[in-house]
Amino acid sequence: MKSTIEFRKDIVSGDWVLISTDIQKKPVFFKKVESKPLPKSKCPFDGIQKSKQEKVLLWMPKPGGKDLKDWWIQILPNKYPVVASSRICPPLTKYGIHEKKIGVGFQEVIVTRSHEKHFGLMAKNEIELVIEAYQSRFQALSAEPCVDYILIIHNHGSRAGATVPHPHSQIFAIPIIPPDVKRSLEGSRKYFHENKKCVHCAILKDELKEKERVIYQNKLFVVLAPYASRVAYEVRIFPKLHESRFEAIDQAQRNDLADALKIILSKIFKKLKNPDYNMFIHTAPPKERHAEHYHWHLEILPRIATWGGLELGAGIDVVKISPEETAKFFRQ
Ligand SMILES: [Zn+2]
Ligand SMILES: [Zn+2]
Repeated sequence: MKSTIEFRKDIVSGDWVLISTDIQKKPVFFKKVESKPLPKSKCPFDGIQKSKQEKVLLWMPKPGGKDLKDWWIQILPNKYPVVASSRICPPLTKYGIHEKKIGVGFQEVIVTRSHEKHFGLMAKNEIELVIEAYQSRFQALSAEPCVDYILIIHNHGSRAGATVPHPHSQIFAIPIIPPDVKRSLEGSRKYFHENKKCVHCAILKDELKEKERVIYQNKLFVVLAPYASRVAYEVRIFPKLHESRFEAIDQAQRNDLADALKIILSKIFKKLKNPDYNMFIHTAPPKERHAEHYHWHLEILPRIATWGGLELGAGIDVVKISPEETAKFFRQ
């Protein structure tokens, strides 16, 4: 069968999907959800410093380390990408009554050295280096001509979609604005025009006054359980000062973001007994000039419940723990 890598537009909702059939060739490192963890000796990310053919896009030493043998982070092109790497911008083309674009883009893997030490166990300065690596690749990829959006995601565990258990994150740089981001941008723009202020700044002001859903805060960041959470124990992290772009954060913000992540991810690890989760950054599209209405943030969604018909068929998420209870649970 011919392989397909295409972004296809749903003619009714306007939402983009990615049809990428090449991924089926990818080896599976998680056997079954409940199977034994992959031993270090068979881990593809533990051997990366030995295999010379890997093209390292960026590496960073451990806190205090100096050379490559002390590496803490390596960023590599994804070996099994769902998009085809290309600098030729694909045009929007017709397929019968439908629209599509060739699935070009860039997909990179950010690997931290330790096989066992995931975010919930990392030290603050180790997390801070990961944030710096995210930011650095975000800036490099935003200069690519066909890139309209850059998504940074971290999948923890097989239920969250990770295919290798060794802690790693991914960066997708793609020629479309993803549907969830588009909805979020449109909602934020609409509120800004109607109220002459940022919707997330309004939420933060309200949440910091109410305190009911606030889990943690430091000087520059707030960790909270969103009022309309989509899953049980959902958490979001917001910069307190209005900023549209994640890639614009400075040293002080990286430090406080690392602190906030360390606090919440170690709480999730301990209190929920190491659940699978997805974490991602929502930020303004790099080439969008009028993004001042947007307020970048980070979302963490534990994968505890499974989705049924109401969620997939109606888009109504059923959440069995209230955000107020979630905040109280994590504050304790
Ligand atoms: Zn490993
Ligand atoms: Zn704002």
